[in-house]
Amino acid sequence: MTEGSLGAPTRHPIPWQEESYYDEEALDLELRRVFDICHGCRRCFNLCDSFPQLFDLIDESPNEEVEDLSAGDIKNVVDSCTLCDMCFMVKCPYVPPHEFDLDFPHLMLRHRAVENRNGKTGFVDKQLAEIDRNAAVAGTLSGAANWASKGSNGVTRGILESVAGIDKRAHLPPFQEVPLTHKHVGHGPVANAAAPAFGRKAAIYATCYGNFNDQTAGKAALDVLSHNGVQTRVEYPACCGMPKLENGDLPAVASSAEQVAAFFEPIIDEGFDIVALTPSCALMMKFEWPLILPDNAVVKKLALATRDLSEYIVEIAKEKGLVPIDEMKAEIGIHFACHSRAQNMGPKAMEMLKLIPGAKPSITERCSGHGGKWGIFKENFDKAVKVGRPAARAVSKGDPDYMVSECPLAGPHLRQIMESGGQKDLPARIGHPIELLAKAYGF
Ligand code: SF4
Ligand code: SF4
Repeated sequence: MTEGSLGAPTRHPIPWQEESYYDEEALDLELRRVFDICHGCRRCFNLCDSFPQLFDLIDESPNEEVEDLSAGDIKNVVDSCTLCDMCFMVKCPYVPPHEFDLDFPHLMLRHRAVENRNGKTGFVDKQLAEIDRNAAVAGTLSGAANWASKGSNGVTRGILESVAGIDKRAHLPPFQEVPLTHKHVGHGPVANAAAPAFGRKAAIYATCYGNFNDQTAGKAALDVLSHNGVQTRVEYPACCGMPKLENGDLPAVASSAEQVAAFFEPIIDEGFDIVALTPSCALMMKFEWPLILPDNAVVKKLALATRDLSEYIVEIAKEKGLVPIDEMKAEIGIHFACHSRAQNMGPKAMEMLKLIPGAKPSITERCSGHGGKWGIFKENFDKAVKVGRPAARAVSKGDPDYMVSECPLAGPHLRQIMESGGQKDLPARIGHPIELLAKAYGF
């Protein structure tokens, strides 16, 4: 048996429309087969909380065998997985085409899909995944919603913790009264035909977070792209469905994919590239959706047209260069977010920031521990802090002038870890690296 495969790693389509996918006996056998391989390997012991749980459960079982694990033990391992994809992307030598055919995150997803079909997804998980409905309500009542969800509001946060299980210490992002799509429709044809990227067209997929919560990265992206001659527009047809993927609600994710792809198809036909502001959403559009709907040509077309924001800036820079950038002497700590890494495109934030003369970026490749909505729950928050501590330490090493993360959840979470650890010289914010490029341009 060889370790590692000679072929490039690949991922199988997810057969969620086949009845056999939900066969609980077959799933149990597959979980035990994979857990046994992991038990013998243990490379992923420090990636997250899922693997330490698995290994401890096996080691403490009567025969120290996977066979001893109960259904509850298995569920604990599954529930600790944030679907960050790191084990598949960076550690596992047994991913397809290796004969072991091991895709740990997608196996966790299958377990959740079975639970979801059996009506076992938690009520709060289901409600939190209704992003567009929640954003519409919270946007209308943004003042009250933001007041109630503020960390300093002990009374409402205490109620939220006891009713919904959301840890009162967890950072909850404020809502904007006006979505990005209503504030910035984009920039029409740019007059400056001398700008190096003149002629390119980008439709910014605002993503739910960039549209309703933190619009800083979106504004910076519009400024930088427009300055370089790119014609832009901002669109938000619907959420990409990542929170529903976390719930294993694959029919709902498929429906989001169909809706968003159908919306963008005529825009792609007009010559626009699709640029996602948030790595998790780019990952969904480029990789997860085509595996969920492998026969859908429009979804495939969208996947090919989609770029992560940093990836897009680097792409246009390589094509014809960028408008000269002012010198900005600064040490920059970059947190390389899991869902940026999982896009298999290399460290584009690092490449992008190296375009700033005088900038000295350095990269930290560790999970922040937040994991979508996983890290805000009371039963997970302490683990989310524990997993993220090494990343927080590494990104702030050497006391850099700026710290950035492409993941809008990881940034505030890392800052919170630094703050709770008593770190001095806290950064004002840990935002998207595009904000520094916009700053260097003087925006
Ligand atoms: S996907 Fe991430 S959280 Fe899940 S088991 Fe793999 S490394 Fe851990
Ligand atoms: S996922 Fe792969 S690398 Fe990680 S412990 Fe299991 S077999 Fe080893």
